[in-house]
Amino acid sequence: MLLILIINKQMSRNTKQKTELENDLKRISGFFTAEEFHNHALKRLPYTGIATIYRFLKEKTKKRELHSYMCDKRTVYSNSSNNHCHFICQICGKKQHIDIRDVGSIKRNIKGTICHFQIDVTGVCERCREKS
Ligand SMILES: [Zn+2]
Ligand SMILES: [Zn+2]
Ligand SMILES: [Zn+2]
Repeated sequence: MLLILIINKQMSRNTKQKTELENDLKRISGFFTAEEFHNHALKRLPYTGIATIYRFLKEKTKKRELHSYMCDKRTVYSNSSNNHCHFICQICGKKQHIDIRDVGSIKRNIKGTICHFQIDVTGVCERCREKS
């Protein structure tokens, strides 16, 4: 009996935590990392571990309520299915975020449905081009 009570208590705390995290998530716009979201969540949920945050974000991504991308070898997330594109200089390695909207040719090559995309464009940046 006691055990059941403890389990119930644990469950309701987890559910409450999840609801709080859901609310926190809604307040974020743009791209964010798990660590950033963790810092954000800690303000209201001081005992939240980073593992909980990873699990939560993974679950959300699986449900397609969250979108994930790779940025600087780190995973970044977004609430909306934004595109995440980089222009990387092959000489100085500088990376710029760019906005690519026209994906007509990509669409033609994909039989499924596109949710979001990430494109890394490599080249020589303006600064390096002037130097050479
Ligand atoms: Zn997506
Ligand atoms: Zn990026
Ligand atoms: Zn460069």
